[in-house]
Amino acid sequence: MMQRYFISLFLSLSSLVCLAQPHVAAHRGYWKTEGSAQNSIASLKKAAEIGCWGSEFDVWLTADGIPVVYHDSTIDGIRIEDTTYATLMNHRLQNGEFLPTLQQYLQEAKLHPNCRLIFEIKPHRGEKRDGMIAELSVELVNMLGLADRTDYISFSKHVCKKVHELAPEAKVAYLNGELSPKEIKELGWTGIDYNTKIFEKNPDWALEAKKLGLEVNVWTVDGDDALKRFAKMPGIDIITTNEPQVLMNITREMNTFTDCQQKIEDKYRIH
Ligand code: MG
Repeated sequence: MMQRYFISLFLSLSSLVCLAQPHVAAHRGYWKTEGSAQNSIASLKKAAEIGCWGSEFDVWLTADGIPVVYHDSTIDGIRIEDTTYATLMNHRLQNGEFLPTLQQYLQEAKLHPNCRLIFEIKPHRGEKRDGMIAELSVELVNMLGLADRTDYISFSKHVCKKVHELAPEAKVAYLNGELSPKEIKELGWTGIDYNTKIFEKNPDWALEAKKLGLEVNVWTVDGDDALKRFAKMPGIDIITTNEPQVLMNITREMNTFTDCQQKIEDKYRIH
């Protein structure tokens, strides 16, 4: 009798901390590993190989309208938006790869069907170029048959609006953090993808977004303590991290705990 009481107590306490595990999204691919670099084709391949749920990357448009995968607005001091692809194509990433075009990057993605693409479209100079990059991105994703596993994110409201118009079925999440979950819902977008500080400042937003049916992603969470804290935070669906391997170990432990709890429940038929 006493034993049963303690088991019940354990289960009710553990159910308070036993939450759904968030998905792991590799920030700029899995780049903190040998032979990789941020936003390289190798980083996408490595994210898929370690079993990441998704891999994030950033896209810019060159002066002559070629989308390339890179984070900063400049490469080796040259502004991507103002430069033709012919001038940029010989620039190398840290791992020796040439600057990848979006097409080359997405061709690699086709080889990894279990990895979602978290496609960040960078805010460009003016609405016209924002519209151009949104259109080219959606067109290429659709043409390569990747629409069902590509989620778009952007700091630009104009880009989010344009992608939502062009691909109403696609997931579109906003990055900038100043819009409430309610405002995002009203715009017809599907999620919030906000910096850790935004969730700390607005502790209700993750659950509020969930109640509205939005997807909740947080960036960029690194280090064991922060990863554990966000992995346990109610309402978080996805964690974007530079340390996907560390987060995968944490979520694996959380899974083991859930399995263990289930076994005890089954054994003692406590529900
Ligand atoms: Mg990014």
